[in-house]
Amino acid sequence: MNKRIIIFDTTLRDGEQVPGAKLDCRQKLIIARQLVRLGVDVIEAGFPASSPGDREAVTRIAKEIKGPIITGLARAVKSDIDALWQAVRHAKRPRIHIVLGASDIHVHEKLNINRDQCLKMGVEAVRYAKSLTYDVEYSTEDASRSDFDYLCRVIETVIKAGATVINIPDTVGYAIPDEFGRLIRRIRKRVPAAAKVGLSVHCHNDLGLATINTLTAVKNGVDQVEVTVNGIGERAGNAALEEVAAILNTRTDYYKSCTNINLREITPTSRLVSRLMNIPVQPNKAIVGGNAFCHSSGIHQDGILKSRANYEIIAPEAVGVQRHSFVLTARSGKHAVRHRLQELGFELPEQQFRDLHRRFLQLADERKQVSDDDLLMLVNS
Ligand SMILES: [Zn+2]
Repeated sequence: MNKRIIIFDTTLRDGEQVPGAKLDCRQKLIIARQLVRLGVDVIEAGFPASSPGDREAVTRIAKEIKGPIITGLARAVKSDIDALWQAVRHAKRPRIHIVLGASDIHVHEKLNINRDQCLKMGVEAVRYAKSLTYDVEYSTEDASRSDFDYLCRVIETVIKAGATVINIPDTVGYAIPDEFGRLIRRIRKRVPAAAKVGLSVHCHNDLGLATINTLTAVKNGVDQVEVTVNGIGERAGNAALEEVAAILNTRTDYYKSCTNINLREITPTSRLVSRLMNIPVQPNKAIVGGNAFCHSSGIHQDGILKSRANYEIIAPEAVGVQRHSFVLTARSGKHAVRHRLQELGFELPEQQFRDLHRRFLQLADERKQVSDDDLLMLVNS
């Protein structure tokens, strides 16, 4: 029996921290709707204490998006937790996610307090969050560089205070797969109460190990993984959702795990996020790169023609790659134009759509064919 791994998507929080990737409320909602189609279990919609705009976006997502758990980030202070709760309380399944440093560097240098004071701060934050809602996630920031005994003391104490999910982040992308897997195993052994709550990881890609660290944690018994579409996020980014989901799906024999991700939605989601956040995907990126399914050498092309299994371990269609690109012409009709716009992430009000369609026809007459880029230009002009 395969274990179902909870996919916690933080594209709209960690991913949005990428310089230049800031989204407005409407764009965040478009991505959140696509995340539902993709089948994520948890959406971290933002960091409400950071700005009124983000608070508004998280509130709208909590009100309008049905299905996944909706959460957002809060530091371990009352004002952050209040701002987050005001936004996510509208969701059918809200979660408060608290983050507080666990490593000595963070405790001493960033927070400027000692370990006991830090632990007290974390426990008070969890207790306060718990007075507002049942589901409270606690992130032991910089866990991979923390003192093991202190880390376990924190985990044990916040579980007692009511935390329902414990996240073990490799905040700075420092961990090595074997070592990170061992850390998860040791925590499980040292803190028996961890078996009663969800155990989660959040890996960064500073040394290019975010995906393998995440998977090694899965192999060692975590229940939830925090990932982003296209692996975007602070600095070198986070573990890529599409990689983790595709690997668990392709190598079920090894990981004995599965997810609720609808793989066919992976490519449309990747394109949508890339476009709305203005972050191109590198061509050789696993699963979602433009060349991920291109076979260029003669030997490979010959092999593919004989049997796809020679050089393909995933069928491109399985992750939503369309073999034929979509081209619109003057004869495409309003319905096709509207449909393509929706696939690109735009739902225009009727009047705006009619105006766009008029300009579309002019362009189609001039150019014969209208590409996605042309269509986007029309939307933005
Ligand atoms: Zn992060």
